Amino acid sequence: MEPTAIKFNQEELNQLKSQLQSPKQITLIGHVSPDGDSLGSTLALSLLLKKLGHTTSVVHPTDYPPSFGFLKGSDEVIVAKHQPEEAIKALQGAEIIFLMDFNEVKRVEQLENTLANANAFKVMIDHHLHPTSDVDLCFSYPVKPATCLLLYELIEALGYKEYIDQSIAECLYTGMATDTGGFSYNSQDPKLYTTISELLNCGLEKDKISSYINRSYTIDKIRLSAYLLDNNLTFYPQYHTAIITMSQQDKRKFDYQIGDTEGLVNEPLAAKEILFSIFLHEQAKYTKVSLRSKGSFPVNQFAKKFFNGGGHLNAAGAEVYTSLQETTKILLEAIKIMHPSHEDE
Ligand code: 5GP
Ligand code: MN
Repeated sequence: MEPTAIKFNQEELNQLKSQLQSPKQITLIGHVSPDGDSLGSTLALSLLLKKLGHTTSVVHPTDYPPSFGFLKGSDEVIVAKHQPEEAIKALQGAEIIFLMDFNEVKRVEQLENTLANANAFKVMIDHHLHPTSDVDLCFSYPVKPATCLLLYELIEALGYKEYIDQSIAECLYTGMATDTGGFSYNSQDPKLYTTISELLNCGLEKDKISSYINRSYTIDKIRLSAYLLDNNLTFYPQYHTAIITMSQQDKRKFDYQIGDTEGLVNEPLAAKEILFSIFLHEQAKYTKVSLRSKGSFPVNQFAKKFFNGGGHLNAAGAEVYTSLQETTKILLEAIKIMHPSHEDE
């Protein structure tokens, strides 16, 4: 097995270290609809920077799923949707801004201009292809399965590993576990497992955290998932594809909370012949498209080609400003043009 540890550029490490030499005001920002990796990476680095004597703020454009409320510092996250002034202040007043788990500034939505115009020294830490943002330092490693793993390796390379405590370990583990579907896809990197071993030595209670992530749902969420799989799931075996839809009405019926459909898009992939799964989620102003595949079918290319979205080979998404019905129509045409074949298995 090839070694998979990142070989960072020493010059870039030195630049970052010199930025962190004296106490600074630092803001960490993740992407819209934060997932476990976005939230975990921003909180982990924030906790570590505080230990180094810095003052930090963590900003996300929209709410994170309440099931991640166990992560230390999550209660102090500035959610721009509810606290726009605080979010803008945190960006404008920062000496350093870390952009975590996203590759282009449009992923912070309403904060895009504020972030682009902020005077801070900007550092991107991310694992998506083709970073496009104008930053001072960019640690972009798309081979890494999670920003949290990349962050662990960066902390190691900077010589700050001794500062990783139980809370930081929990944040890092959460991102690694969620971005790989519980180590079931995009999870071949051996460094994932040596890192978990190290995190266990830092006090990580792995089974407890897995339970917080996967066994803390509401009964409504279980019923919503069952309803959608029973009523709103269509298989297109000729295209090796499945589509699940969720309307605003479905959401009201089951008192939908953010995060309630987390992971649902993966369910159809349990069928042997289904290689591509799509979840369409109707929101107030747009339709959220979530795409997953197994094997070599590149859902990020599909997202880019038809919806101007992006992501990874097996997990991608987009926001589409058409209704659920219209988006479904576009999608049905799109899967005729681009869909997996047996070779993608
Ligand atoms: P999810 O389906 O969980 O929302 O997103 C899966 C992955 O797709 C994310 O980790 C992210 O990389 C990517 N993604 C989701 N939505 C968008 C989007 O609107 N634009 C881009 N560029 N990528 C997205
Ligand atoms: Mn990620």
